[in-house]
Amino acid sequence: MTTETRLRIAMQKSGRLSDDTQALLKRCGLKLNVSDRRLLAHVANMPIDIMRVRSSDIPGLVMDGVCDLGIVGDNTLEETALERELMGQKSQYFKTTQLNFGGCRLSIAMPEEFNYQGIDSLNGLRFATTYPQLLNRFAKENGINIEFCLLKGSVEVAPRVGLADGICDLVSTGATLEANGLVEVEEIFRSKASLIQTATPLNSEKQSILDTLLPRIQGVMKAKESKYIMLHAPKDKISEVCALMPGSETPTILPLAGRDDLVAVHVVATETFFWETMEKLNALGCNSILVMPIEKMMG
Ligand code: ATP
Repeated sequence: MTTETRLRIAMQKSGRLSDDTQALLKRCGLKLNVSDRRLLAHVANMPIDIMRVRSSDIPGLVMDGVCDLGIVGDNTLEETALERELMGQKSQYFKTTQLNFGGCRLSIAMPEEFNYQGIDSLNGLRFATTYPQLLNRFAKENGINIEFCLLKGSVEVAPRVGLADGICDLVSTGATLEANGLVEVEEIFRSKASLIQTATPLNSEKQSILDTLLPRIQGVMKAKESKYIMLHAPKDKISEVCALMPGSETPTILPLAGRDDLVAVHVVATETFFWETMEKLNALGCNSILVMPIEKMMG
Protein backbone atom coordinates (compact mmCIF):
# COMPACT_ATOMS: atom_id res chain seq x y z
CA MET A 1 0.00 0.00 0.00
CA THR A 2 1.35 3.43 -0.85
CA THR A 3 0.70 6.33 1.48
CA GLU A 4 -0.01 9.45 -0.47
CA THR A 5 2.02 12.53 0.40
CA ARG A 6 -0.29 15.32 1.52
CA LEU A 7 0.54 18.95 2.16
CA ARG A 8 -0.64 19.98 5.61
CA ILE A 9 -1.92 23.51 6.16
CA ALA A 10 -2.86 24.93 9.58
CA MET A 11 -5.69 27.43 9.80
CA GLN A 12 -7.72 29.01 12.61
CA LYS A 13 -10.61 26.78 13.57
CA SER A 14 -12.99 29.57 14.51
CA GLY A 15 -12.48 33.25 14.96
CA ARG A 16 -11.72 36.37 12.99
CA LEU A 17 -9.46 34.70 10.42
CA SER A 18 -11.35 31.46 9.86
CA ASP A 19 -14.03 32.64 7.41
CA ASP A 20 -11.58 34.55 5.20
CA THR A 21 -9.10 31.67 5.26
CA GLN A 22 -11.75 29.15 4.32
CA ALA A 23 -13.06 31.42 1.56
CA LEU A 24 -9.53 31.83 0.17
CA LEU A 25 -8.92 28.08 0.07
CA LYS A 26 -12.28 27.47 -1.56
CA ARG A 27 -11.62 30.12 -4.21
CA CYS A 28 -8.33 28.34 -4.89
CA GLY A 29 -10.43 25.38 -5.93
CA LEU A 30 -9.94 23.27 -2.79
CA LYS A 31 -12.98 21.16 -1.99
CA LEU A 32 -13.01 20.90 1.77
CA ASN A 33 -15.63 20.02 4.28
CA VAL A 34 -14.91 21.77 7.55
CA SER A 35 -18.41 21.52 8.96
CA ASP A 36 -17.51 18.56 11.14
CA ARG A 37 -15.59 18.69 14.41
CA ARG A 38 -12.51 16.89 13.15
CA LEU A 39 -9.08 18.43 13.67
CA LEU A 40 -7.90 17.36 10.22
CA ALA A 41 -10.09 18.14 7.20
CA HIS A 42 -9.19 16.30 3.99
CA VAL A 43 -9.32 18.22 0.75
CA ALA A 44 -11.23 15.95 -1.60
CA ASN A 45 -9.72 17.05 -4.92
CA MET A 46 -6.07 17.79 -3.98
CA PRO A 47 -3.50 16.04 -1.77
CA ILE A 48 -3.90 18.61 1.00
CA ASP A 49 -5.05 18.32 4.63
CA ILE A 50 -6.28 21.29 6.60
CA MET A 51 -5.50 21.27 10.31
CA ARG A 52 -7.98 23.44 12.21
CA VAL A 53 -6.54 24.77 15.45
CA ARG A 54 -6.35 27.87 17.65
CA SER A 55 -4.61 30.79 16.05
CA SER A 56 -1.95 30.89 18.75
CA ASP A 57 -0.94 27.27 17.99
CA ILE A 58 -0.34 27.86 14.27
CA PRO A 59 3.16 29.46 14.34
CA GLY A 60 4.53 26.70 16.61
CA LEU A 61 3.05 23.94 14.45
CA VAL A 62 4.78 25.41 11.39
CA MET A 63 8.05 26.20 13.19
CA ASP A 64 8.21 22.62 14.50
CA GLY A 65 7.42 21.21 11.04
CA VAL A 66 4.17 19.53 12.16
CA CYS A 67 2.40 21.55 9.46
CA ASP A 68 4.01 22.55 6.17
CA LEU A 69 2.11 25.81 5.92
CA GLY A 70 -0.06 28.00 8.11
CA ILE A 71 -2.32 30.99 7.73
CA VAL A 72 -2.01 33.28 10.73
CA GLY A 73 -1.91 36.93 11.80
CA ASP A 74 1.51 38.60 11.82
CA ASN A 75 0.87 39.64 15.44
CA THR A 76 0.54 36.01 16.58
CA LEU A 77 3.49 35.01 14.44
CA GLU A 78 5.84 37.68 15.77
CA GLU A 79 4.74 37.18 19.38
CA THR A 80 5.39 33.43 19.14
CA ALA A 81 8.76 33.93 17.43
CA LEU A 82 9.91 36.32 20.19
CA GLU A 83 8.64 34.01 22.91
CA ARG A 84 10.37 30.98 21.38
CA GLU A 85 13.65 32.87 20.89
CA LEU A 86 13.54 33.80 24.57
CA MET A 87 13.03 30.16 25.52
CA GLY A 88 15.70 28.90 23.10
CA GLN A 89 13.14 27.03 20.97
CA LYS A 90 13.01 26.67 17.22
CA SER A 91 11.50 29.85 15.75
CA GLN A 92 12.33 29.76 12.03
CA TYR A 93 9.78 29.96 9.24
CA PHE A 94 9.40 31.54 5.80
CA LYS A 95 6.76 34.13 5.14
CA THR A 96 5.54 32.90 1.75
CA THR A 97 2.85 35.51 1.02
CA GLN A 98 1.24 38.39 2.79
CA LEU A 99 -2.54 37.96 2.49
CA ASN A 100 -5.08 40.71 2.06
CA PHE A 101 -7.31 40.10 5.08
CA GLY A 102 -7.06 40.18 8.88
CA GLY A 103 -5.77 43.74 8.95
CA CYS A 104 -5.42 45.23 12.43
CA ARG A 105 -2.94 47.07 14.65
CA LEU A 106 -1.56 46.34 18.10
CA SER A 107 -1.89 49.54 20.07
CA ILE A 108 -1.45 50.93 23.54
CA ALA A 109 -4.64 52.53 24.83
CA MET A 110 -5.15 54.53 28.01
CA PRO A 111 -8.26 55.64 29.92
CA GLU A 112 -9.69 58.90 28.53
CA GLU A 113 -8.74 60.80 31.70
CA PHE A 114 -5.04 59.83 31.42
CA ASN A 115 -2.83 62.78 30.58
CA TYR A 116 -0.74 61.34 27.74
CA GLN A 117 2.43 63.34 27.09
CA GLY A 118 4.36 60.97 24.84
CA ILE A 119 5.92 57.55 25.35
CA ASP A 120 7.79 58.60 28.51
CA SER A 121 4.51 59.11 30.32
CA LEU A 122 3.96 55.33 30.08
CA ASN A 123 7.12 54.64 32.11
CA GLY A 124 6.53 52.53 35.22
CA LEU A 125 2.91 51.73 34.33
CA ARG A 126 1.18 48.36 34.15
CA PHE A 127 -0.52 47.08 31.00
CA ALA A 128 -2.94 44.27 30.36
CA THR A 129 -2.11 42.43 27.15
CA THR A 130 -2.17 39.17 25.23
CA TYR A 131 1.08 40.21 23.54
CA PRO A 132 3.73 40.67 26.27
CA GLN A 133 6.70 40.04 23.94
CA LEU A 134 5.69 42.66 21.38
CA LEU A 135 4.93 45.13 24.18
CA ASN A 136 8.24 44.38 25.87
CA ARG A 137 10.13 44.92 22.62
CA PHE A 138 8.40 48.26 22.15
CA ALA A 139 9.26 49.30 25.72
CA LYS A 140 12.93 48.33 25.28
CA GLU A 141 13.23 50.13 21.94
CA ASN A 142 11.81 53.26 23.55
CA GLY A 143 13.82 53.08 26.77
CA ILE A 144 10.88 52.74 29.17
CA ASN A 145 10.15 50.21 31.91
CA ILE A 146 6.70 48.73 32.09
CA GLU A 147 4.92 45.92 33.86
CA PHE A 148 2.34 43.74 32.25
CA CYS A 149 -0.44 41.39 33.22
CA LEU A 150 -1.25 38.64 30.77
CA LEU A 151 -4.89 38.36 29.71
CA LYS A 152 -6.18 36.12 26.91
CA GLY A 153 -9.49 37.94 26.49
CA SER A 154 -11.51 41.01 27.58
CA VAL A 155 -8.28 42.98 27.83
CA GLU A 156 -10.18 46.25 27.47
CA VAL A 157 -11.90 45.95 30.86
CA ALA A 158 -8.60 45.70 32.80
CA PRO A 159 -8.14 49.44 33.59
CA ARG A 160 -11.76 49.80 34.76
CA VAL A 161 -11.45 46.95 37.25
CA GLY A 162 -8.10 48.17 38.57
CA LEU A 163 -6.01 45.40 37.02
CA ALA A 164 -3.84 47.69 34.92
CA ASP A 165 -3.21 51.35 34.08
CA GLY A 166 -3.65 50.78 30.36
CA ILE A 167 -3.90 48.08 27.75
CA CYS A 168 -2.01 46.87 24.70
CA ASP A 169 -4.47 45.17 22.39
CA LEU A 170 -5.51 44.60 18.79
CA VAL A 171 -7.60 47.34 17.23
CA SER A 172 -9.32 47.47 13.87
CA THR A 173 -12.05 50.12 13.99
CA GLY A 174 -11.44 51.43 17.51
CA ALA A 175 -15.11 50.95 18.47
CA THR A 176 -14.32 48.53 21.34
CA LEU A 177 -11.82 50.99 22.81
CA GLU A 178 -14.29 53.83 22.61
CA ALA A 179 -17.04 51.76 24.21
CA ASN A 180 -14.71 51.11 27.13
CA GLY A 181 -13.58 54.71 27.62
CA LEU A 182 -10.09 54.10 26.23
CA VAL A 183 -7.99 56.20 23.84
CA GLU A 184 -5.38 54.77 21.49
CA VAL A 185 -2.05 56.51 22.20
CA GLU A 186 0.62 54.44 20.44
CA GLU A 187 0.45 51.95 17.58
CA ILE A 188 3.19 49.40 18.18
CA PHE A 189 2.66 46.81 15.44
CA ARG A 190 0.70 46.56 12.18
CA SER A 191 -0.66 43.19 11.22
CA LYS A 192 -2.27 41.26 8.38
CA ALA A 193 -2.74 37.56 7.83
CA SER A 194 0.21 35.74 6.23
CA LEU A 195 0.82 32.40 4.62
CA ILE A 196 3.87 30.95 6.34
CA GLN A 197 5.95 27.91 5.49
CA THR A 198 8.10 25.63 7.57
CA ALA A 199 11.85 26.25 7.34
CA THR A 200 12.38 22.50 6.83
CA PRO A 201 12.70 21.97 3.03
CA LEU A 202 9.64 20.29 1.55
CA ASN A 203 10.09 17.01 -0.31
CA SER A 204 9.56 17.18 -4.07
CA GLU A 205 5.95 15.92 -3.93
CA LYS A 206 4.91 18.52 -1.35
CA GLN A 207 6.81 21.20 -3.22
CA SER A 208 4.94 20.41 -6.40
CA ILE A 209 1.56 20.65 -4.57
CA LEU A 210 2.68 24.03 -3.23
CA ASP A 211 3.79 25.09 -6.71
CA THR A 212 0.21 24.52 -7.88
CA LEU A 213 -1.41 26.15 -4.86
CA LEU A 214 0.71 29.30 -4.57
CA PRO A 215 -0.12 30.87 -7.96
CA ARG A 216 -3.79 30.20 -7.20
CA ILE A 217 -3.54 32.03 -3.86
CA GLN A 218 -1.78 34.92 -5.54
CA GLY A 219 -4.36 34.89 -8.34
CA VAL A 220 -7.27 35.01 -5.88
CA MET A 221 -5.70 37.93 -4.02
CA LYS A 222 -4.92 39.85 -7.18
CA ALA A 223 -8.47 39.25 -8.44
CA LYS A 224 -9.94 40.52 -5.15
CA GLU A 225 -8.11 43.82 -5.58
CA SER A 226 -8.83 44.14 -9.30
CA LYS A 227 -11.88 45.15 -11.28
CA TYR A 228 -12.81 44.59 -14.91
CA ILE A 229 -13.92 47.87 -16.43
CA MET A 230 -15.88 48.25 -19.66
CA LEU A 231 -16.98 51.55 -21.15
CA HIS A 232 -17.79 53.34 -24.36
CA ALA A 233 -15.37 56.21 -25.02
CA PRO A 234 -15.09 58.92 -27.67
CA LYS A 235 -12.39 57.83 -30.15
CA ASP A 236 -10.54 61.14 -29.89
CA LYS A 237 -10.33 60.95 -26.06
CA ILE A 238 -8.74 57.48 -25.77
CA SER A 239 -5.42 58.63 -24.30
CA GLU A 240 -7.14 60.83 -21.66
CA VAL A 241 -9.54 57.99 -20.82
CA CYS A 242 -6.68 55.47 -20.41
CA ALA A 243 -4.72 57.90 -18.23
CA LEU A 244 -7.65 57.99 -15.80
CA MET A 245 -7.80 54.21 -15.34
CA PRO A 246 -6.00 53.25 -12.12
CA GLY A 247 -3.25 50.66 -12.56
CA SER A 248 -4.62 49.52 -15.92
CA GLU A 249 -2.26 47.74 -18.25
CA THR A 250 -2.75 47.57 -22.01
CA PRO A 251 -6.46 48.29 -22.61
CA THR A 252 -8.49 46.42 -25.20
CA ILE A 253 -10.07 48.81 -27.70
CA LEU A 254 -12.91 47.47 -29.83
CA PRO A 255 -15.05 49.05 -32.55
CA LEU A 256 -18.76 49.59 -31.86
CA ALA A 257 -21.23 48.57 -34.55
CA GLY A 258 -22.65 51.59 -36.34
CA ARG A 259 -20.58 54.15 -34.39
CA ASP A 260 -17.51 55.83 -35.88
CA ASP A 261 -17.12 58.29 -33.00
CA LEU A 262 -17.15 55.77 -30.13
CA VAL A 263 -15.11 52.68 -29.19
CA ALA A 264 -15.45 50.11 -26.42
CA VAL A 265 -12.58 50.11 -23.90
CA HIS A 266 -11.97 47.11 -21.63
CA VAL A 267 -9.32 47.21 -18.88
CA VAL A 268 -8.34 45.38 -15.73
CA ALA A 269 -7.82 48.03 -13.06
CA THR A 270 -5.56 46.82 -10.28
CA GLU A 271 -6.31 49.67 -7.89
CA THR A 272 -9.47 50.94 -6.26
CA PHE A 273 -11.82 52.37 -8.83
CA PHE A 274 -13.49 55.39 -7.29
CA TRP A 275 -16.82 57.03 -8.11
CA GLU A 276 -14.81 60.23 -8.76
CA THR A 277 -12.96 58.46 -11.61
CA MET A 278 -16.27 57.35 -13.11
CA GLU A 279 -17.53 60.92 -12.94
CA LYS A 280 -14.39 62.19 -14.69
CA LEU A 281 -14.78 59.54 -17.40
CA ASN A 282 -18.37 60.56 -17.81
CA ALA A 283 -17.32 64.20 -18.15
CA LEU A 284 -14.94 63.14 -20.96
CA GLY A 285 -17.93 61.79 -22.86
CA CYS A 286 -17.71 58.13 -21.81
CA ASN A 287 -20.91 56.19 -21.20
CA SER A 288 -22.08 52.65 -20.35
CA ILE A 289 -19.36 52.45 -17.70
CA LEU A 290 -19.41 49.04 -16.04
CA VAL A 291 -17.18 48.04 -13.10
CA MET A 292 -17.21 44.30 -12.46
CA PRO A 293 -15.58 41.99 -9.92
CA ILE A 294 -13.05 39.43 -11.16
CA GLU A 295 -13.18 35.94 -9.71
CA LYS A 296 -9.81 34.48 -10.71
CA MET A 297 -6.65 35.72 -12.44
CA MET A 298 -3.57 33.99 -13.79
CA GLY A 299 -0.59 35.09 -15.82
P1 ATP B 1 -7.54 31.88 18.91
O1 ATP B 1 -8.76 32.06 19.74
O2 ATP B 1 -7.82 31.15 17.62
O3 ATP B 1 -6.33 31.33 19.61
P2 ATP B 1 -7.41 34.79 18.84
O4 ATP B 1 -7.86 34.88 20.25
O5 ATP B 1 -6.28 35.71 18.42
O6 ATP B 1 -7.00 33.33 18.45
P3 ATP B 1 -9.39 36.10 17.14
O7 ATP B 1 -9.90 37.13 18.09
O8 ATP B 1 -10.35 35.39 16.27
O9 ATP B 1 -8.65 34.93 17.88
O10 ATP B 1 -8.27 36.84 16.25
C1 ATP B 1 -7.55 36.15 15.27
C2 ATP B 1 -6.67 37.14 14.54
O11 ATP B 1 -7.48 38.04 13.78
C3 ATP B 1 -5.82 38.07 15.40
O12 ATP B 1 -4.66 37.42 15.90
C4 ATP B 1 -5.48 39.16 14.39
O13 ATP B 1 -4.40 38.76 13.57
C5 ATP B 1 -6.74 39.23 13.52
N1 ATP B 1 -7.58 40.42 13.81
C6 ATP B 1 -8.03 41.29 12.89
N2 ATP B 1 -8.74 42.27 13.45
C7 ATP B 1 -8.76 42.07 14.74
C8 ATP B 1 -9.35 42.75 15.85
N3 ATP B 1 -10.03 43.86 15.74
N4 ATP B 1 -9.20 42.21 17.07
C9 ATP B 1 -8.54 41.05 17.20
N5 ATP B 1 -7.95 40.38 16.18
C10 ATP B 1 -8.04 40.88 14.97
